[in-house]
Amino acid sequence: MKNRTNAKFHFLPFVTVIALLGLFLAPGASAEGKGQNQNGNQIVVSETLSDVQTEGTKQEVPTLEHQGSSSVSGPSLSHTSGPSIPGYGITYHGGKVLHSPNVYVIWYGNWNTPGNNSKVVLENLLQNIGGTPYFNVNTSYSDRQGPVSNSVRFVKSVTDNYSQGTVLTDNKVAAIVKRAITKESSKESGSNNSLPKDSNAVYFVFTSADVSETSGFLTVYCAWHAHKTIEDTNIKYAFVGDPSADLSACASQRVVSPNGNLAADSMASMTAHELEEAITDPNLNAWFDDATGYENADLCAFNYGKAIKNPDGSFYNMIIGGRQYLIQRNWLNVDPGSCASSY
Ligand SMILES: [Zn+2]
Repeated sequence: MKNRTNAKFHFLPFVTVIALLGLFLAPGASAEGKGQNQNGNQIVVSETLSDVQTEGTKQEVPTLEHQGSSSVSGPSLSHTSGPSIPGYGITYHGGKVLHSPNVYVIWYGNWNTPGNNSKVVLENLLQNIGGTPYFNVNTSYSDRQGPVSNSVRFVKSVTDNYSQGTVLTDNKVAAIVKRAITKESSKESGSNNSLPKDSNAVYFVFTSADVSETSGFLTVYCAWHAHKTIEDTNIKYAFVGDPSADLSACASQRVVSPNGNLAADSMASMTAHELEEAITDPNLNAWFDDATGYENADLCAFNYGKAIKNPDGSFYNMIIGGRQYLIQRNWLNVDPGSCASSY
């Protein structure tokens, strides 16, 4: 594995899969009635209300990021954290949080296949997640300026027609973000296809199903977030790929899903995961667990709590902006600390 200091990847060395299966089922998960869902994952089925906990084989699990390692690039350096201040099942390390972030999206590759509603599904989520009881869980995290607010402002999305090809590296993902916030993109498609330079934001790079990320998408992680100085500004960004090339790796549901789009429905949960981590640990020096390096969302990865089963067999556990989503819970930093769907 490469050493990374300014990226929060979700590694899952294959040998740890078994251990993690136990780990993720331990806290707060129902131990009764476990069966196999269509994912071959742990899922508890009752009439309509179910405890849902799936296990992607490529779990979102961090490893190296908070443990210090040689620097990769940019002046963000390593995890220079201040004194640890215990929270409830998670620790504060002195860094800043994003109190009321803006969100931008870069749709990379081809998202215009007829019938593909991914843009609708994911932008609807980002437009409406702020203010929800679910996102309110993040208000249990603070820095010296105060708590995270239950507010997200989805500002804008742009497209990128394979500017870095179909085989991406971590650096190419950063290049995609950089390109969107510089004037390069405006030359190609008009200024309307560029993004502002905004340090109080999370930039999502959503890559289409034909795009690979060679540092381990679908083999060791499902998504990641990072920060990097771009154009003299500390830019926070996240990679979330369309997992259609291997739904068994990252998809939350593999046969039917609430929005009729297995990939986008999976990406919705990943997007929420990365958003809440990028907000509470934007520079990888704020909120994470000392022992494991887990950020808030990592503590509840693929843990959905109570979910409702639709007649077609799909599950959802929340309605946001009028759409059903099956979105993993988030760690509530309130005594005693637990995974929560709302707060
Ligand atoms: Zn994570």
